Amino acid sequence: MIEITIDNTPIMAEEGTTILQAARANGIAIPHLCYHPALKPSGACKLCGVEVASPTGRQVIMLSCILKAKPGLVIKTDSPMVAEHREKAFAKLLNLAPDSERIRNLAAEYKVPVPPMPNGCIRCRLCVRVCNDVVGARALKMVKKETGNRVVPGEGNCIGCGTCANLCPTKVMRVKDEAGVRTVYIKDEVVSRLPLERCEACGNLYATSDFLAHVEAHTGDHPHTKAVHHLCTACAKLMSDRAVTETLRPKK
Ligand code: SF4
Repeated sequence: MIEITIDNTPIMAEEGTTILQAARANGIAIPHLCYHPALKPSGACKLCGVEVASPTGRQVIMLSCILKAKPGLVIKTDSPMVAEHREKAFAKLLNLAPDSERIRNLAAEYKVPVPPMPNGCIRCRLCVRVCNDVVGARALKMVKKETGNRVVPGEGNCIGCGTCANLCPTKVMRVKDEAGVRTVYIKDEVVSRLPLERCEACGNLYATSDFLAHVEAHTGDHPHTKAVHHLCTACAKLMSDRAVTETLRPKK
Protein backbone atom coordinates (compact mmCIF):
# COMPACT_ATOMS: atom_id res chain seq x y z
CA MET A 1 0.00 0.00 0.00
CA ILE A 2 1.16 3.55 -0.71
CA GLU A 3 0.07 6.91 0.66
CA ILE A 4 -1.35 9.60 -1.58
CA THR A 5 -3.22 12.79 -0.73
CA ILE A 6 -6.59 13.67 -2.18
CA ASP A 7 -8.09 17.05 -1.26
CA ASN A 8 -5.70 17.45 1.72
CA THR A 9 -6.67 14.02 3.08
CA PRO A 10 -3.98 11.31 3.18
CA ILE A 11 -5.33 7.98 1.95
CA MET A 12 -3.85 4.56 1.40
CA ALA A 13 -4.04 3.10 -2.08
CA GLU A 14 -2.95 -0.19 -3.57
CA GLU A 15 0.08 0.15 -5.78
CA GLY A 16 -0.89 0.05 -9.48
CA THR A 17 -4.37 1.28 -8.81
CA THR A 18 -5.67 4.40 -10.55
CA ILE A 19 -6.55 7.64 -8.74
CA LEU A 20 -10.21 7.15 -9.67
CA GLN A 21 -10.20 3.63 -8.20
CA ALA A 22 -8.41 4.85 -5.07
CA ALA A 23 -10.89 7.71 -4.68
CA ARG A 24 -13.86 5.39 -5.14
CA ALA A 25 -12.42 2.94 -2.62
CA ASN A 26 -12.14 5.80 -0.11
CA GLY A 27 -15.58 7.32 -0.75
CA ILE A 28 -14.23 10.38 -2.59
CA ALA A 29 -16.53 11.40 -5.42
CA ILE A 30 -15.05 12.18 -8.85
CA PRO A 31 -17.55 12.45 -11.73
CA HIS A 32 -17.12 9.88 -14.48
CA LEU A 33 -19.22 8.23 -17.18
CA CYS A 34 -16.92 6.12 -19.36
CA TYR A 35 -15.24 4.17 -16.55
CA HIS A 36 -16.27 0.58 -15.89
CA PRO A 37 -14.38 -1.68 -13.47
CA ALA A 38 -14.56 -4.60 -15.92
CA LEU A 39 -12.93 -2.65 -18.74
CA LYS A 40 -9.64 -0.91 -19.39
CA PRO A 41 -9.95 2.88 -18.94
CA SER A 42 -10.39 4.90 -22.12
CA GLY A 43 -10.49 8.51 -20.88
CA ALA A 44 -13.29 9.23 -23.37
CA CYS A 45 -15.66 11.35 -21.30
CA LYS A 46 -12.90 13.46 -19.68
CA LEU A 47 -15.12 14.14 -16.66
CA CYS A 48 -12.73 12.59 -14.16
CA GLY A 49 -9.99 15.21 -14.62
CA VAL A 50 -8.15 16.10 -11.41
CA GLU A 51 -5.41 18.62 -10.64
CA VAL A 52 -1.96 17.23 -9.99
CA ALA A 53 1.66 18.43 -10.15
CA SER A 54 3.36 17.29 -13.36
CA PRO A 55 6.94 15.86 -13.24
CA THR A 56 8.15 19.40 -14.06
CA GLY A 57 6.27 20.76 -11.04
CA ARG A 58 3.59 22.54 -13.06
CA GLN A 59 -0.03 22.07 -11.95
CA VAL A 60 -1.93 20.23 -14.69
CA ILE A 61 -5.18 18.35 -15.25
CA MET A 62 -4.86 14.59 -15.66
CA LEU A 63 -7.59 12.00 -16.08
CA SER A 64 -7.96 10.11 -12.82
CA CYS A 65 -9.20 6.97 -14.58
CA ILE A 66 -5.78 6.66 -16.26
CA LEU A 67 -3.42 8.29 -13.72
CA LYS A 68 -1.76 5.64 -11.54
CA ALA A 69 -1.28 6.19 -7.79
CA LYS A 70 2.35 6.88 -6.87
CA PRO A 71 3.75 7.44 -3.36
CA GLY A 72 3.35 11.06 -2.26
CA LEU A 73 1.04 12.10 -5.12
CA VAL A 74 -1.07 15.16 -4.21
CA ILE A 75 -4.42 15.36 -5.97
CA LYS A 76 -7.07 18.05 -6.01
CA THR A 77 -10.58 17.09 -7.13
CA ASP A 78 -12.14 20.46 -6.34
CA SER A 79 -10.12 23.48 -7.49
CA PRO A 80 -10.70 26.35 -9.96
CA MET A 81 -8.58 24.45 -12.52
CA VAL A 82 -10.67 21.30 -12.07
CA ALA A 83 -13.93 23.29 -12.21
CA GLU A 84 -12.89 24.88 -15.52
CA HIS A 85 -11.91 21.54 -17.02
CA ARG A 86 -15.10 19.86 -15.76
CA GLU A 87 -17.31 22.62 -17.20
CA LYS A 88 -15.73 22.17 -20.65
CA ALA A 89 -16.04 18.37 -20.45
CA PHE A 90 -19.72 18.58 -19.44
CA ALA A 91 -20.39 21.15 -22.18
CA LYS A 92 -19.02 18.74 -24.82
CA LEU A 93 -21.10 15.85 -23.50
CA LEU A 94 -24.27 17.95 -23.24
CA ASN A 95 -23.71 19.08 -26.80
CA LEU A 96 -23.66 15.44 -27.91
CA ALA A 97 -26.52 14.28 -25.67
CA PRO A 98 -28.46 17.39 -24.60
CA ASP A 99 -31.46 15.49 -23.26
CA SER A 100 -29.54 12.88 -21.27
CA GLU A 101 -31.01 12.99 -17.76
CA ARG A 102 -27.95 11.24 -16.37
CA ILE A 103 -25.49 13.83 -17.70
CA ARG A 104 -27.77 16.75 -16.77
CA ASN A 105 -28.19 15.47 -13.21
CA LEU A 106 -24.48 14.78 -12.83
CA ALA A 107 -23.59 18.26 -14.10
CA ALA A 108 -26.05 19.86 -11.66
CA GLU A 109 -24.57 17.76 -8.83
CA TYR A 110 -21.16 19.29 -9.58
CA LYS A 111 -22.62 22.82 -9.89
CA VAL A 112 -21.90 22.96 -13.61
CA PRO A 113 -24.35 25.25 -15.50
CA VAL A 114 -26.82 23.10 -17.43
CA PRO A 115 -28.48 24.62 -20.52
CA PRO A 116 -32.27 24.26 -20.69
CA MET A 117 -33.57 21.07 -22.24
CA PRO A 118 -33.84 21.63 -26.01
CA ASN A 119 -37.46 21.63 -27.19
CA GLY A 120 -36.65 20.81 -30.80
CA CYS A 121 -37.01 24.39 -32.07
CA ILE A 122 -34.31 25.22 -34.65
CA ARG A 123 -35.03 29.00 -34.56
CA CYS A 124 -36.06 29.13 -38.24
CA ARG A 125 -38.84 31.61 -37.26
CA LEU A 126 -41.16 30.21 -39.96
CA CYS A 127 -44.04 30.08 -37.46
CA VAL A 128 -43.47 33.66 -36.26
CA ARG A 129 -43.08 35.01 -39.79
CA VAL A 130 -46.14 33.28 -41.24
CA CYS A 131 -48.30 34.27 -38.25
CA ASN A 132 -47.18 37.91 -38.57
CA ASP A 133 -46.76 38.38 -42.31
CA VAL A 134 -49.41 36.11 -43.83
CA VAL A 135 -52.05 35.31 -41.20
CA GLY A 136 -51.68 38.69 -39.53
CA ALA A 137 -52.53 37.35 -36.07
CA ARG A 138 -49.15 38.20 -34.46
CA ALA A 139 -49.77 35.39 -31.99
CA LEU A 140 -46.12 34.28 -31.81
CA LYS A 141 -42.84 36.04 -31.20
CA MET A 142 -39.19 35.21 -30.74
CA VAL A 143 -37.63 36.36 -27.49
CA LYS A 144 -34.00 36.51 -26.49
CA LYS A 145 -33.15 34.45 -23.42
CA GLU A 146 -29.81 33.99 -21.72
CA THR A 147 -29.79 30.48 -23.12
CA GLY A 148 -30.73 31.44 -26.71
CA ASN A 149 -33.78 32.59 -28.66
CA ARG A 150 -37.17 31.03 -27.98
CA VAL A 151 -40.59 31.15 -29.62
CA VAL A 152 -43.27 32.21 -27.14
CA PRO A 153 -46.90 33.39 -27.45
CA GLY A 154 -47.02 36.92 -28.84
CA GLU A 155 -49.21 39.95 -28.14
CA GLY A 156 -51.86 39.13 -30.76
CA ASN A 157 -54.65 36.54 -30.56
CA CYS A 158 -54.16 33.12 -32.10
CA ILE A 159 -57.06 32.24 -34.40
CA GLY A 160 -56.21 28.54 -34.51
CA CYS A 161 -55.56 28.41 -38.25
CA GLY A 162 -52.76 25.83 -37.80
CA THR A 163 -50.49 27.42 -40.43
CA CYS A 164 -47.56 27.57 -38.01
CA ALA A 165 -47.88 23.84 -37.28
CA ASN A 166 -48.10 23.02 -41.00
CA LEU A 167 -44.86 24.89 -41.69
CA CYS A 168 -42.85 23.89 -38.59
CA PRO A 169 -40.02 21.60 -39.84
CA THR A 170 -39.48 19.96 -36.45
CA LYS A 171 -43.13 19.79 -35.31
CA VAL A 172 -42.49 21.87 -32.21
CA MET A 173 -45.56 23.85 -33.25
CA ARG A 174 -48.50 21.48 -32.91
CA VAL A 175 -52.25 21.53 -33.32
CA LYS A 176 -54.51 19.07 -31.54
CA ASP A 177 -58.25 18.78 -32.15
CA GLU A 178 -60.10 17.10 -29.31
CA ALA A 179 -63.67 17.18 -28.00
CA GLY A 180 -64.64 20.06 -30.29
CA VAL A 181 -61.68 22.21 -29.27
CA ARG A 182 -58.49 23.05 -31.17
CA THR A 183 -55.37 23.58 -29.07
CA VAL A 184 -52.25 25.19 -30.54
CA TYR A 185 -49.01 24.34 -28.75
CA ILE A 186 -45.36 25.41 -28.76
CA LYS A 187 -44.08 21.96 -27.70
CA ASP A 188 -46.18 21.55 -24.52
CA GLU A 189 -46.96 25.23 -23.91
CA VAL A 190 -50.52 26.16 -24.87
CA VAL A 191 -50.85 29.13 -27.24
CA SER A 192 -54.64 28.95 -27.60
CA ARG A 193 -57.67 26.75 -27.03
CA LEU A 194 -60.52 27.54 -29.42
CA PRO A 195 -63.88 25.88 -30.18
CA LEU A 196 -64.27 24.19 -33.56
CA GLU A 197 -67.18 24.78 -35.96
CA ARG A 198 -68.98 22.07 -37.95
CA CYS A 199 -69.00 21.92 -41.75
CA GLU A 200 -72.48 22.93 -42.93
CA ALA A 201 -72.54 20.07 -45.46
CA CYS A 202 -70.98 17.00 -43.78
CA GLY A 203 -71.18 18.08 -40.14
CA ASN A 204 -67.49 17.36 -39.40
CA LEU A 205 -65.65 19.69 -37.03
CA TYR A 206 -63.20 21.51 -39.28
CA ALA A 207 -62.14 25.05 -38.29
CA THR A 208 -62.26 27.46 -35.36
CA SER A 209 -64.87 30.21 -35.23
CA ASP A 210 -62.05 32.76 -34.92
CA PHE A 211 -60.43 31.46 -38.09
CA LEU A 212 -63.74 31.54 -39.98
CA ALA A 213 -64.43 35.09 -38.79
CA HIS A 214 -60.90 36.07 -39.87
CA VAL A 215 -61.39 34.54 -43.34
CA GLU A 216 -64.81 36.21 -43.66
CA ALA A 217 -63.31 39.58 -42.82
CA HIS A 218 -60.28 39.24 -45.10
CA THR A 219 -61.61 37.75 -48.34
CA GLY A 220 -63.44 39.48 -51.15
CA ASP A 221 -67.08 38.91 -51.93
CA HIS A 222 -66.58 36.23 -54.58
CA PRO A 223 -68.71 33.11 -55.10
CA HIS A 224 -65.64 30.86 -55.01
CA THR A 225 -64.59 32.13 -51.61
CA LYS A 226 -67.43 33.32 -49.37
CA ALA A 227 -69.83 30.67 -50.70
CA VAL A 228 -67.61 27.89 -49.33
CA HIS A 229 -66.46 29.44 -46.04
CA HIS A 230 -68.78 27.30 -44.01
CA LEU A 231 -67.68 24.08 -45.63
CA CYS A 232 -64.72 21.85 -44.83
CA THR A 233 -62.08 21.51 -47.58
CA ALA A 234 -63.48 18.19 -48.84
CA CYS A 235 -67.04 19.56 -49.16
CA ALA A 236 -65.79 22.87 -50.56
CA LYS A 237 -63.93 20.96 -53.30
CA LEU A 238 -66.99 18.85 -54.04
CA MET A 239 -69.17 21.95 -54.35
CA SER A 240 -66.72 23.75 -56.65
CA ASP A 241 -66.29 20.63 -58.84
CA ARG A 242 -70.08 20.48 -59.14
CA ALA A 243 -70.26 24.17 -59.98
CA VAL A 244 -67.64 23.73 -62.71
CA THR A 245 -69.50 20.72 -64.12
CA GLU A 246 -72.77 22.68 -64.13
CA THR A 247 -71.08 25.57 -65.96
CA LEU A 248 -69.57 23.25 -68.58
CA ARG A 249 -72.79 21.25 -69.20
CA PRO A 250 -74.28 22.22 -72.60
CA LYS A 251 -77.48 24.25 -72.22
CA LYS A 252 -80.63 22.51 -73.62
S1 SF4 B 1 -52.41 28.77 -35.32
FE1 SF4 B 1 -52.29 30.68 -34.11
S2 SF4 B 1 -50.08 30.91 -33.77
FE2 SF4 B 1 -50.29 29.46 -35.46
S3 SF4 B 1 -50.19 30.71 -37.36
FE3 SF4 B 1 -52.38 30.49 -36.80
S4 SF4 B 1 -52.83 32.28 -35.58
FE4 SF4 B 1 -50.59 32.12 -35.63
